[in-house]
Formats: sequence, structure tokens, C-alpha cells
Amino acid sequence: MNSNLTAIAARLGLPDFLPGWVWLVGAGPGDPGLITALGLHAVASADFILYDSLVDEALLGLAKPAAGQIFVGKRAGVRSCSQEDLSQLLAELAGQGHRVLRLKGGDPFVFGRGGEEAQELARTGIPFRIVPGITAGIGGLAYAGIPVTHRDTNASVIFLTGHGADGQLPPHDWQAVAKASPTLVFYMARRQAGAIADALIAAGRDRNEPAAIIGNAARSDQQVTVTTLADLGDASQSSPALSIIVIGANVGLRSELDWLVRMTPI
Ligand code: SAH
Repeated sequence: MNSNLTAIAARLGLPDFLPGWVWLVGAGPGDPGLITALGLHAVASADFILYDSLVDEALLGLAKPAAGQIFVGKRAGVRSCSQEDLSQLLAELAGQGHRVLRLKGGDPFVFGRGGEEAQELARTGIPFRIVPGITAGIGGLAYAGIPVTHRDTNASVIFLTGHGADGQLPPHDWQAVAKASPTLVFYMARRQAGAIADALIAAGRDRNEPAAIIGNAARSDQQVTVTTLADLGDASQSSPALSIIVIGANVGLRSELDWLVRMTPI
């Protein structure tokens, strides 16, 4: 095991990753530096790592040489493993006495089906631990210089999925959503961006309010497009498949706070 990481884990008093346990860990939105100390400790201790496509593979390089690494995500839109098979695999490996790390992008409990995986473990009596991660809807905005809340612009924020059944517009109560918060953050929304904007404008949101699409957030190829609600659909056409969308006046703060582009380390 990586001895530096073991020493850090001991200094911080982190819990041991015990054999027969499953840890569901959030790796953060892209930049491998955004994983938590507990997450890193889990990577270094695990016997098996089941990871998905959002996880930066550099993190896997910190695993024990003998650790099994199993890709269970989607590649080119095709799922390598069904949710049922995955839950079964987690339970099986833990049942054999392995330390099993389920490593997911962002936070495991934010639009990542981590809750379902944990439910399955709870039902089968497998001990587990949840290690939160930085979700794309917060960390991705930070990497674009957009505070998720800001006193002058929004005292609340809503996180929504933009992906309904069969790729349709999700059945949110759009009137309620439009009124409920000045800032809306959409996951899985790139394809439906135009339809989402139309629904919000029809429900009374200002067509000129700022919106941003943050593609590949917190990765070396991050791409941010600032637009208006009315132009969101068009602007999203050229954004990366992996994009988070934020609508609201807080987007305007980026012109002042875009640290990633403006601040050059000396
Ligand atoms: N559990 C993850 C979200 C999984 S849902 C989290 O907490 O971040 C997948 C959606 O998350 C993507 O469609 C996209 O909208 C968003 N997402 C995750 N990582 C991202 C990244 N690095 N850049 C932009 N969007 C991201």
C-alpha cells in the first residue's frame, strides 16, 4: 500500500477500510485533486475498485498493485454492466471478504444511483460506508468562476435532472421550478437544453437572463459558454457531451471571478 497515504490516513485518524466492506466514494467532478482524503485512503486500501466513466484514471494509479480494477460505466453510450449485475458484483466481492470500493464521479448520492446501490447492500446485509464527493453542480461551477450562491444574486439554488424517461423533458412542475429559485442547476441536460429553456420562458423566466454551459468541468479541456436563456438551446449544440447547465444572475459573476483563465501561477 502507498505508505505516504497510510501515514496521512493515520495522522487524520481515518477509519480502516475493513475486509468485507463496500465503500461508495465520490471522486469529484474531474480534477483528480478534488477527491477527499477519505476517498484517496479508500483508493489506496481497496482490494477491488469498480469505477465509472466519470472517474479520472490517474486516481486508479494509486491503487495497490494487486487490486482488481473493474470498469462498470458507460462507453459510447453503452453500459458495460447493468445496475442489477453491478449491485450483485459488489455484494459478491464483499461477501468473499474483499475491501470493495465503488468509485463514482462527483458525489455518489447526487444523480448517480448511489442510493440504489446502497439500498441493495443494506438489503443484503453488507456493511458499507458513504464517502461524499464534490458534485459537478457545485465544483463544476466553482471551476467556471460561478458561485453557486451569492448574496447579491441568489439565496437559493435548485439541482435538477434535465433527462426524463426516453430522453424526453423530465416531468418537473415547470411553473413551480421557474418561481422557486433564482438559480437552477441542471445535470444531464445538454440534449434537452432548448426544450428546458422554452419550458422556463413559458413559465415566466426572463429570456435574457444569463445561463452557462460548463462542459468537461474541472478537466483540462473544460469549456464554458455563457449565453442567455433564450439562446441556451443553440449554445448547447457545440458543448461537450458532459455538461452542466446553470441558469441565473449568479452566472454574471464569472466575468469577474473566472480564476482558472485569468490567474496564471507565477
Ligand atoms: N454523481 C455525479 C452526477 C452524475 S449524473 C455528480 O455528483 O456530479 C451525470 C451528469 O453529471 C452529467 O450528465 C453532467 O450533467 C454532470 N457532470 C458530471 N461530471 C461533470 C463534469 N466534469 N463536467 C460537466 N458536467 C458533469
